[in-house]
Amino acid sequence: MIHLDTPLKNISKITPKYAKVLEKMGLVTVQDFLLYFPFRYDDFSKTVELGQNYLGETITVEGTIIKAKNIRIFRRKMTITEIVIQDKNNTPLKTVWFNQPYILENLKEGESIRLSGKLAIDKKIFSMANPAWEKASRDATNTGRLVPVYSETAGISSKWIRWQIKPLLRFAKDIPDILPEETRKKFNLYDLRTAITQIHFPDSREKLVRAQKRMAFQEMFLVQLKSLQVKKQWEKNNSIDIKFDEKLIKEFVEKLPFKLTNAQRKASFEILKDLEKSKPMNRLLEGDVGSGKTVVAAISTLQSISAGYQVAIMAPTEVLARQHFESFCKLFENYGINIALLTNSYQEINNFQFSIFNFQSIFNDKILKNKKNSREYLLKSTADGKINLIVGTHALIQKDVRFKNLALIIIDEQHRFGVAQRATLQQETMSIKDPVKSPNGDHGASGEIKTISHLLTMTATPIPRTLAIAFFGSLGLSILDEMPKNRKPIVTKIVPPSARNQNYNFIRQEIGSGRQVFVIFPLIEESKALSEVKAAAEEYKKLQDIFPDFEIGLLHGRMKPKEKEETMQFFKEQKTKILVSTSVIEVGIDIPNATVMIIENAERFGLSQLHQFRGRVGRGEHQSYCFLFTESNTQKSIERLKALEKTNDGFEISKIDLELRGPGQFFGTIQSGLPDITMENLSNVKLIKFAREEATNLLKVDPRLKKHPLLADALLRFSEKIHLE
Ligand code: ADP
Ligand code: MG
Repeated sequence: MIHLDTPLKNISKITPKYAKVLEKMGLVTVQDFLLYFPFRYDDFSKTVELGQNYLGETITVEGTIIKAKNIRIFRRKMTITEIVIQDKNNTPLKTVWFNQPYILENLKEGESIRLSGKLAIDKKIFSMANPAWEKASRDATNTGRLVPVYSETAGISSKWIRWQIKPLLRFAKDIPDILPEETRKKFNLYDLRTAITQIHFPDSREKLVRAQKRMAFQEMFLVQLKSLQVKKQWEKNNSIDIKFDEKLIKEFVEKLPFKLTNAQRKASFEILKDLEKSKPMNRLLEGDVGSGKTVVAAISTLQSISAGYQVAIMAPTEVLARQHFESFCKLFENYGINIALLTNSYQEINNFQFSIFNFQSIFNDKILKNKKNSREYLLKSTADGKINLIVGTHALIQKDVRFKNLALIIIDEQHRFGVAQRATLQQETMSIKDPVKSPNGDHGASGEIKTISHLLTMTATPIPRTLAIAFFGSLGLSILDEMPKNRKPIVTKIVPPSARNQNYNFIRQEIGSGRQVFVIFPLIEESKALSEVKAAAEEYKKLQDIFPDFEIGLLHGRMKPKEKEETMQFFKEQKTKILVSTSVIEVGIDIPNATVMIIENAERFGLSQLHQFRGRVGRGEHQSYCFLFTESNTQKSIERLKALEKTNDGFEISKIDLELRGPGQFFGTIQSGLPDITMENLSNVKLIKFAREEATNLLKVDPRLKKHPLLADALLRFSEKIHLE
């Protein structure tokens, strides 16, 4: 007997070969299969009688086969399968398929068939090329309806999946519905069985939308429950209250070579206010590339250090960690603050990398010569509090890194953490501050109130406010929505193939007057990383031919960290004039002398993403340019790119992008651990709001979900899922 947990390989129609492929896709049981949703639908729901008025439309027609034959064309080594049918008005329709001679094994003259495809006309006879088909006696599965399309893996077609899933749908009723009935009623949501059935084989668009909404609500409900739980957990802890020293901060700000923007002032103030509380801060600082997050971070850092505590700043990559290190060294030049840099991706070379600034007095050459000793020395100095500020990569969360009194952790998250992981990230950072590292050395056994550090995370993704609130609802939110005044807007231009040469001349001029150029081959998917590397390497060669007189650098993800660092360094020192890079190049990289950003294949990317790339120029006093190279000449993609020509405002762009492409691209589905359906529905602010309210209400009456065991269980599994990075 088949039930939800029956392994797919035990189902007679699924051969071991297929079962294996399914397993690779993560589909092992009947339940897994039922929850494997289509990613789009072909709309074959318009069933009609043949007529001129449907020319060019996608329709479904039923008729009797009056002719069927395979035609082999030896010269071109192909087979054409040709069928002529007559609908009930005896109107003929000719269809052809290429290289699928086996179709005729099933179809004989005289049989009734249903065909779905785009109607054309050929020598006065209606025609369809490569239509979807099935015998009219079967229920509409591949034709004559909204037909689900699943993402296909080698060897498994959507058609096959449809045939397999359809008979299994009757088990959907056995999957427990985690949404409380009251909630379902309140928001008029489908029960799980109906939702699953309608998602695979929707009876209509309306029902499909309703089914998707139900699933999206469920995921969002879990996100919100999780985020509320984490928030509650977070708020149980204590933190150190750091008094706002107005004089200190005022002086620091006055000495800056620029005037803070109002947004920077406001954000800094919000953070300083949070630090004054004895409850741990958990705040997100959101600001477009170049909006000046670093100095805001510096203000809170300075405040914490001057109150006698330590601060840790974590960046996602080596290069950014170093850049922060250098920025902070400069910002705190006159403050006698000991700053260390700690990263560990130099494993191939010497196991670690570090620098200490302003530390000469206690740090002698002898120690420096022995790298192992020096690491130990650095760690010891951090543990006993001599280091005030430690900047680094993930190396900072290693076990041997201890602090004396770490009051503030700043994570320059730069896109690297998915949204739903936000919740788990908070837990992770909680665990940075295990008892040994916790400021007062409390041994906060579970259940006890712990004293933990304040947490500030920063992101350069200008996530629309509604979306940010949905996901980061448990965080304080500070937004830098104002660019420093001195910025000249970056001039952005779409460059079609015909204008390339002209563009290269312009670049020559720019370099001639001392500027530098980025050329980016943005990454499309992780799996394509290799071909991207290849493309970048080819471009590198091509550019060497075009610009034989300029030094060109090449940067990609497959390089060793040391090589990457060197390449960046050469570019920084202007030894190379052009830097060809894959999208590995960091969002936050700061090279003011680079004024030209060229993005290849620009049409393939979301506007927000392009905007991020663009943000790597326009950081200095010179006029900067961004050229969007595109091979595409479709009106739609050009229109889209035009938004970038029109505005430099990241929030504006993200709003357009949200409308055009949904929220997925801000985070990436895989990264966030949320299904596509949820992602699509994220632009639905109401849904998010309702999910949050409902989650809040539920936790009020049933904080531990004791009365909702199904939900509690789902939440546990959900947390595990989104924990996977
Ligand atoms: P991001 O938000 O991308 O991290 P940064 O903090 O790196 O931006 O700042 C980008 C550049 O702008 C830096 O060179 C910084 O010194 C400068 N900057 C920051 N704030 C201001 C301001 N208010 N006025 C002028 N320049 C500023
Ligand atoms: Mg930055």
